[in-house]
Amino acid sequence: MADDPNFLLERNRAFARTAARTRVPRIPFIPNEQLYVITCVDPRVDPADILGLQLGDAIVARNVGGRVTPALLQDLAWISFLHETKTPDADWFRIAVIHHTDCGSGLFADDDLRHAFAARGFDDSELSRLAVLDPARTVRTDVATLLAYPNLPPRVQVLDYAYDITMGLLTEVVPTRSRADAGTAAIG
Ligand SMILES: [Zn+2]
Repeated sequence: MADDPNFLLERNRAFARTAARTRVPRIPFIPNEQLYVITCVDPRVDPADILGLQLGDAIVARNVGGRVTPALLQDLAWISFLHETKTPDADWFRIAVIHHTDCGSGLFADDDLRHAFAARGFDDSELSRLAVLDPARTVRTDVATLLAYPNLPPRVQVLDYAYDITMGLLTEVVPTRSRADAGTAAIG
């Protein structure tokens, strides 16, 4: 831990002296890499590092587990809405969902721990659904939720990955697809 509680100010001053802040997108909801990343709050899976993302490259949504929750869907719907209404001619972004091994959300599967936390005013069954025990499995579940979400534009591509904390490696779980693809698959 840094000794000086104001180390953030110091690091920010150093950042402000670089040119990084000038390479940001002109329209904030159209990031440089047209990418929307959904992943866990775990400090070991920071997308800037594990995906080599620079400032302005992606919109990053993080919650415990990197789960596709109602709050996350609302944000995604809002960004999609802005695209449709403010920049209808812009390219569409891709969404990458990343779940990882050794995820702290797995503790939601511990009944005693979860019940004790739920007693503080949270929904026990909702919490139990958040546990990431097998990243490849939960990422499929969340991508299915995304692809079924009516406020997600059909052309947006969804990428899904499992990240191995020990190896530092990302594995593609299911090949990239969009709601348009999913619709075709359902009919065919
Ligand atoms: Zn995690």
